[in-house]
Amino acid sequence: MINVAKTYLPPLDEYIEYLKKIWAANWVTNHGPLVIELEEKLKEYFGVKHLIFTSNGTIAIQIAIKALGLKKDIITTPFSYVATTTSILWENCKPVFVDIDPQTCCIDHTLIEAKITAETEAILATHVYGIPCAVEEIEKVAKKHNLKVVYDAAHAFGTLYKGKSLISYGDISTVSFHATKLFHTIEGGAIITNDDKLAEKIKLYMSFGHLGDDHFSIGINGKNSEFHAAMGLCLLGRVPSFIERRKELFNGYDKGLKQLELLRPSNPVGTVYNYSYYPVVFKDEETLLKIKAALEKHSIFPRRYFYPSLNKLPYINNGNTCSVSESYAKRVMCLPMFYELANDDVIRICEIITTA
Ligand SMILES: *Cc1c(COP(=O)(O)O)cnc(C)c1O
Repeated sequence: MINVAKTYLPPLDEYIEYLKKIWAANWVTNHGPLVIELEEKLKEYFGVKHLIFTSNGTIAIQIAIKALGLKKDIITTPFSYVATTTSILWENCKPVFVDIDPQTCCIDHTLIEAKITAETEAILATHVYGIPCAVEEIEKVAKKHNLKVVYDAAHAFGTLYKGKSLISYGDISTVSFHATKLFHTIEGGAIITNDDKLAEKIKLYMSFGHLGDDHFSIGINGKNSEFHAAMGLCLLGRVPSFIERRKELFNGYDKGLKQLELLRPSNPVGTVYNYSYYPVVFKDEETLLKIKAALEKHSIFPRRYFYPSLNKLPYINNGNTCSVSESYAKRVMCLPMFYELANDDVIRICEIITTA
């Protein structure tokens, strides 16, 4: 069986070395030495000032919204994982959907300004598949209208844009370190900002709103454990080889599917890509379903990332039309992409697709 993603587990001995440290310190959670070590190493890796390790990537988005004090309308993308939208709703804000750019599949910055009203407080966009949003144009429009910018950078680990980590853009970026992502800590995520005051607020909010006996605000529990940090420490040094391997697989798919001339999202100029996903856009939903069924017959399980278009979720009341996103959501599928995928599997998957 081949799934769309497969969790990479390090050699058990390496993880056990960290377990020994945890046992020796008898410290399992609440910002222990391994969490601190991971945060320091990730900050250095991304070249950012503050990085706060959280229990997952969804709570990271919710805490970001809370820390920025957002209470009203948030302009957002309809083409992302559902957590992007549900986090907005969970924080009692209103998602205002703006359609996507057909080339990058990220929010179409040219359509943002028309959707801004007196109620608009922020833009929450996703670097979908690790492809950069139009970060400069978004910053420009945000500055002009005094809006905050949050990036759901769950897919962006390792992507560089104009020489900087993609994760360093925006007022806040959030990442997910879920087991299915390029880099993982089993469950986990992080909140990234270069703003000192915001970082202090985030740390407070994720830890019940108090420091010792001093209580400042409401808060939640967004902390992660030493065991999760240990997994991250085992994997961080391997990220370059994860990306390198994905690039080979990516090129293998490109070669094997060339004759079909499939529509594929592409990166803006200035991107050094992380090859985190291999999405293909078929000509219609019928073709997608036919090919998905053919692959499943061979125990190969691609995923419909992302379906449905989030403006069409059953609990969204005024989901305005986003025709590009709705069309892509019906036709797009991510093919298996992970470090341990074999070249022969890529060839086989391409053969099934081209002959289906
Ligand atoms: C995975 C993912 C999330 C959620 O992250 P979790 O760590 O699973 O909570 C949010 N947004 C996007 C775009 C994702 O792919």
